[in-house]
Amino acid sequence: MKAHTAAKVDRRQSHRAPREGRAAVVRATDAGQGVGPALVLAPGREKSSRLRHPWIFSGAVERVEGDPASGDTVTVVAADGTFLASAAYSPASQIRARVWSFDPGQAIDSAFFTRTVNRAATARAALFDRDHTAGRILHGESDGLPGVIADRYGDVVVLQCLSAGAERWRDVIAEALREATGVRCVYERSDAEVRSLEGLPVRTGALQGVLPDVVTIVEDGIAYRVDVVHGQKTGFYLDQRDNRRSVRERAAGRRVLNAFCYTGGFSLAALAGGAASVLSIDSSGDALELARDNLARNATLDSARAQWHQADVFEELRKLRDSGAAFDMIVLDPPKFAPTAAHAERAARAYKDINLLAFKLLAPGGLLATFSCSGGISAELFQKIVAGAALDAHADGQIIGHLTASGDHPVALNFPESDYLKGLLIRKV
Ligand code: SAH
Repeated sequence: MKAHTAAKVDRRQSHRAPREGRAAVVRATDAGQGVGPALVLAPGREKSSRLRHPWIFSGAVERVEGDPASGDTVTVVAADGTFLASAAYSPASQIRARVWSFDPGQAIDSAFFTRTVNRAATARAALFDRDHTAGRILHGESDGLPGVIADRYGDVVVLQCLSAGAERWRDVIAEALREATGVRCVYERSDAEVRSLEGLPVRTGALQGVLPDVVTIVEDGIAYRVDVVHGQKTGFYLDQRDNRRSVRERAAGRRVLNAFCYTGGFSLAALAGGAASVLSIDSSGDALELARDNLARNATLDSARAQWHQADVFEELRKLRDSGAAFDMIVLDPPKFAPTAAHAERAARAYKDINLLAFKLLAPGGLLATFSCSGGISAELFQKIVAGAALDAHADGQIIGHLTASGDHPVALNFPESDYLKGLLIRKV
């Protein structure tokens, strides 16, 4: 930590925000005396910044100097005036600022964003080839750009700006993405609910180039159409790529049930792996229509082995149990039941319910790939819930694999919050 304790940094750096009149040129040599916008933390509240955690919570801020606007770059200083970080100010959010850089010498300007985007894109370059045309390019805080998500789908990048700072630098980031990837279009899908917490309205539309009528990708040799305009998140659950491969590798000869199938990712992976049959369930008619269409795009997959069913998974699993159905492999990839810890108890009941039913529906030797993408449920708690479900189902199980988001969704060591997807691969004994 020594390097970060260099006290009383001369903040004569230019932290330029791109808006006229807001250029935050900080000149300060002493405790909190900056003339540019600054957040001065309360005494003793600098610990998480020293650990390089990128969020500054409102409760840690003692005062705001210089009247910054939403998205402006502010200098975060400790109570004794020590430079801590350059960050984007977000007056409407509990997360009052998100850090762009912990380096006092780093100007926050277009070149900074271009460089950061290039670094992230370069690190993913090996991911893409003929059989793999989709992947995440920017994973927010873990790529050094809080609130910025960018997913590549073939010739298109879909960008989500989820914070005030991301909003401010959108155009620079979009241009850098296009240059770094060479795509035809950068399309914005800033319509996630979390934007309202930052006081930001919904924004969608092409930022660079023109969106093609149909966006297609190839994942592990399987073709999918991605609805980047209306689909969930940015259109496809790229985080499950490696786990779809795990399912594919183990699906041969099995009767598979894919609950919460969305546009058929795990279903097509199971068919490609030689599943005997695949029953897929989702409540969304649009998702199922696209799933059917996706199967039709892949001539090598046997569509006679696939069944699609629009239903509520909680009800349908009960019906299947009552009818005496049995499966050799079950995938449970539900939506986020607990966005925060406050929802954990209700979410725990929902996870237990579907996992209990899955254990009942599995034949001995059957495999369960069960997931939680809830930030409010820890990996440890999730495992306990699943263990409780097996116990109540009078089933024994063995964990044969821990499943996480694919490597293009990195978890920065200083930001464990981004480790949101946890999965267990379980063999019923
Ligand atoms: N496994 C998918 C992603 C699943 S996302 C993939 O790899 O692409 C979660 C899905 O659950 C969404 O498609 C949503 O429509 C569906 N869903 C949410 N609640 C549901 C419910 N109660 N019953 C059935 N489907 C539901």
